[in-house]
Amino acid sequence: MVIDSGLQGKVALVTGGGRGIGRAVVEMFARDGVDVLFFFLGNTEAAQQVVAAVTGAGGRCEAVQVDVTDADAVGTAVEQIIDSRGRIDVLVNNAGIVRDNLLGMLDDADIQAVFDTNIGGTFNATRAVARHMISKRSGRIVNLSSVAAGKGGRGQSNYAASKGAIEAFTRAMAVELASRKITVNCVAPGVIETEMSQQVRDLADEQIRARILLRRYGQAEDVAHAVWFLASRFADYITGEVLHVDGGFKME
Ligand code: NDP
Repeated sequence: MVIDSGLQGKVALVTGGGRGIGRAVVEMFARDGVDVLFFFLGNTEAAQQVVAAVTGAGGRCEAVQVDVTDADAVGTAVEQIIDSRGRIDVLVNNAGIVRDNLLGMLDDADIQAVFDTNIGGTFNATRAVARHMISKRSGRIVNLSSVAAGKGGRGQSNYAASKGAIEAFTRAMAVELASRKITVNCVAPGVIETEMSQQVRDLADEQIRARILLRRYGQAEDVAHAVWFLASRFADYITGEVLHVDGGFKME
């Protein structure tokens, strides 16, 4: 007998779905019969590859170029999805950037860009989508935090602060939206093998691995499984939580 996740036929919006973790989430949802739309910033080739891979495998997928820092653009794109699909059942706030440096070396632009994308983008997409979920009295929101939200890391003050804000935002939204049957949770990855973590892995490969209990980096699919779980009916009774996918990194 097939196990039913409850996701088949649902509509999901994933921000930053063209590469890395977002791509794995898009592909995982599509394999489970979800109609997936994703935002990307500027890497059109990568986005097209995702759409081709998903549709080539018989899934439903559409890429939309939207900068999540632009609230108007996010709002317009969400309304277009509602016009064409009628609803958004799942929102994954995944788009994120890093601009690591020691505090004294961080310029204003590095601080602002990280806040605007990571927490500003999460606000913009959630505000645009949540009102439609509220009217349907159902929905799932999954936000991408990071191990950095709870574990101090040199050169990550801007990034860590943005991810800590996402976790606080998640708890506040869980309270605000619970009565409308919308759950809001976080997934907090450790070091995952994507372009985002390439520089840090190149700089301190052995030292980092030695601090991960499972002694390996995570794969984008490891994170996608957790996102899928929180979006599925198996997580019906979970809200306001942070699910760590870090191989035990936070404990070392
Ligand atoms: P990547 O750098 O591999 O991919 C980031 C994606 O976000 C890209 O598709 C990019 O679009 C998109 N994006 C960036 N800025 C914007 C924007 N302003 N508007 C729309 N889309 C945007 O990142 P990861 O897959 O590694 O990370 C995904 C999430 O997971 C992030 O929130 C990150 O902070 C978090 N995370 C990652 C970890 C890791 O080790 N990789 C660890 C902990 C958390 P485009 O392709 O067009 O450039």
